[in-house]
Amino acid sequence: GLEIKGLQKRFGKRQVLENIDLSIRPGQFTTIVGESGCGKSTFLRLLAGLETPTEGTIIQDGKPVTAHNTATRMMFQDSRLLPWETISDNVKLGITAHPTTAEEEALNMLKLVGLEEYKDEWPSVLSGGQRQRVALARALVSRPRVLLLDEPLGALDALTRIGMQELIEQLWQRQRFTALLVTHDATEAVALADRVILLKKGQVALDLPINLPRPRPRGSAKFSALVETI
Ligand code: ATP
Ligand code: MG
Repeated sequence: GLEIKGLQKRFGKRQVLENIDLSIRPGQFTTIVGESGCGKSTFLRLLAGLETPTEGTIIQDGKPVTAHNTATRMMFQDSRLLPWETISDNVKLGITAHPTTAEEEALNMLKLVGLEEYKDEWPSVLSGGQRQRVALARALVSRPRVLLLDEPLGALDALTRIGMQELIEQLWQRQRFTALLVTHDATEAVALADRVILLKKGQVALDLPINLPRPRPRGSAKFSALVETI
């Protein structure tokens, strides 16, 4: 889990995050929403150890987060696959600890995202949605404790996005990593999260539990009401 206490981030005079206190239990799925510039990406980067807090602490599974946080993986709007590596080698890049079984683990992960038949091809042959599947496979192949997703589906069409949401849900059910997902899509937030956090000017403006059965009854009155609240 994550214990975030008195977290602040300033860039020069600009206060981007202000006094964030959050306790996130292991395996919880949280989505973060809020208008452009409110500090969502900065928050994820801090959790990943890619930025250092100006003030405050982030404790992950009992230890302070550092720059070499291999228990955490991140995924972005663009897949960031290496074009000169095959698809299976791109997934293999997610593995740092067990070189002897890497090949097998990468293939298993590709199977789970439904792209095994593409293993020896180049990323350039894939659609945008398929690339994000590979990026997800690369992020999860090492079984991270925490997965940070910064608008991973933002560039996909509506139908592809729903398929990816289902895949993320399936893999989360399977691996039970702690997930923090940034999205501008309130429906996506309610479909995936146990908890939705609204950031406003770098502060937590709303911390809303989502108590609905999984898979989420999209289109039910309660689902729609929660989407409206966000
Ligand atoms: P969006 O929804 O558009 O992605 P966001 O909520 O992710 O927005 P951030 O990218 O976290 O917003 O940026 C929050 C604020 O922090 C912005 O005003 C941005 O200019 C500033 N900021 C982020 N990174 C830096 C940096 N490295 N140096 C200076 N300012 C920064
Ligand atoms: Mg952002």
